[in-house]
Amino acid sequence: MRYSQYFIPTVKETPADAEVVSHQLMLRAGMIRKLAAGIYNYLPLGLRSIRKVENIVREEMNRAGAIELLMPGVIPAELWQESGRWDQYGRELLRIRDRKDAEFCLGPTHEEVITDLVRREIKSYRQLPVNLYQIQSKFRDEIRPRFGLMRGREFIMKDAYSFDVDGDAADLSYEKMYQAYRRIFERCGLKFRAVEADTGSIGGSSSHEFMVLADSGEDAIASCNACDYAANVEKAETRPIEAAEHADPRPLERVPTPDKRTIGEVSEFLGVHEASMIKTLVLLADNEPVVALVRGDHELNEIKLKHVLDCDELEMANDEVVAKVTGAPVGFAGPVGLKVKIVADPAIKVIRNGVTGANEKDLHLKNVNLGRDFQVTTFADIRNAVHGDACPRCETGVLEMWRGIEVGHVFKLGTKYSKALKASYLDADGKEQIVFMGCYGIGIGRTVAACIEQNHDENGIIFPIPIAPFHCIISALNIKEEPVREASERIYKELSDAGVEVLLDDRDERPGFKFKDADLIGIPLRIVAGSKNLAQGNVELKDRKTGEVELLPVADAVAKVKALVAEALH
Ligand code: ATP
Ligand code: MG
Repeated sequence: MRYSQYFIPTVKETPADAEVVSHQLMLRAGMIRKLAAGIYNYLPLGLRSIRKVENIVREEMNRAGAIELLMPGVIPAELWQESGRWDQYGRELLRIRDRKDAEFCLGPTHEEVITDLVRREIKSYRQLPVNLYQIQSKFRDEIRPRFGLMRGREFIMKDAYSFDVDGDAADLSYEKMYQAYRRIFERCGLKFRAVEADTGSIGGSSSHEFMVLADSGEDAIASCNACDYAANVEKAETRPIEAAEHADPRPLERVPTPDKRTIGEVSEFLGVHEASMIKTLVLLADNEPVVALVRGDHELNEIKLKHVLDCDELEMANDEVVAKVTGAPVGFAGPVGLKVKIVADPAIKVIRNGVTGANEKDLHLKNVNLGRDFQVTTFADIRNAVHGDACPRCETGVLEMWRGIEVGHVFKLGTKYSKALKASYLDADGKEQIVFMGCYGIGIGRTVAACIEQNHDENGIIFPIPIAPFHCIISALNIKEEPVREASERIYKELSDAGVEVLLDDRDERPGFKFKDADLIGIPLRIVAGSKNLAQGNVELKDRKTGEVELLPVADAVAKVKALVAEALH
């Protein structure tokens, strides 16, 4: 490709509305342009990287025995009503009507469509197992689209669905996908980790997320420093904390705390440690008030609580509900005397002579003790794991915290969708059985963005060769000089003929200008062809990642680029 005839609208300044570095660099490098919130044009350079990731995904999916097809983006409402998700999925589902007033949605995920196809076409155990996948645009009306391709509303996903005769066979399909995902993200040159995850609105029995490690990641991950336990904090289990002291209960005391509402404010005001406080939160579970108790220095995990309560919707109560349940304004809630269901984290059990709200304005209670002063309906692990918690799996390890970007997610679905949509087959005895499913997603655009989060410097992107838009850029200094033009064209042809993807910067621009663009768009290898070096038969070869520059005879530079590219693609 010749730069002068191509379309790479680079930008010098950092765009003000881009918070994370991958978003900034993808805009600056002319890879993407925003059309509307969370909706982007993929410009030629961006599309090339997207296609690279798609092809790696495709090759590894095919290698693992999955078969590609393509489903529609527009889905009739009936299918989603049949699975029950039309009502459950909420406002992320973009619903539309056709001219006959029939309802449809833009597909955010395709369990319903694929299960419908399979229930019609697969009749016998002889046709199983089968794993079908597509690479397609999804639409999710995210509340907060941001970070460019990382959290868009329209985004490209690879989604695969496996169908098996029973749970054991489905576990094997899951394992194959898990291994394929490892290969995919390794080939993309990413530092990643597979972690246990919550199954969210997709459902199913268990799942793993593939997390690219990055400080800008929206997810928190806990991992053990001694064993291989790793989980999303949404899911990470905690071990009940042992009692550190066995103090005798002291008499309950009411203490004025004027305008002190938060755990931090009260702890400072009364001079008590946050760990001796009982944080009392009022929530609505399917519109019924419920109170959750966690230790003052811990955080409630709403996903865990939702599982404990087995409800469809869980949200923090508003001020009005809090006042109704506790009799006091927000900031003074406590479990003593409450008449609603109370779910407490086990860490509450070991608090002696604790501090909590008195359910009266500007008042807290001291020396509060479980059993004597308040009761709990249910104890359950409902808090977020924190740095230094004992590992829930091994005896010696403690948890460490990381941040990550979820690029892939694999789920064991069991029979959730096949039961709802009646996808069955006849077994060897002619008996009807329900199929077991798994589903497996990869965010293609998010993978490119995550790669840039991990691979950049102050000058721009540093693409790993496997997903770089081009492998090599030839910066022709002063293209008007005949020897430079001639040599650049020759190198361009030789590399292209050898299958190396080359961008020839043949623009009539100053060298500094060309180098800046080359660095910004992150092409891994750069050949600099200038008349001075060419007079000796040499060119410069620069490695974008290490910054190393070598002066080499033209033929050697060409051979080296070919070798480096071949090595990286294997
Ligand atoms: P998240 O928790 O980040 O919203 P999710 O759990 O909803 O993700 P899945 O339903 O598992 O995501 O979708 C499969 C993959 O699609 C994710 O692992 C992610 O890589 C990608 N993905 C999901 N939502 C988005 C989005 N809004 N923009 C870009 N990619 C996305
Ligand atoms: Mg989501």
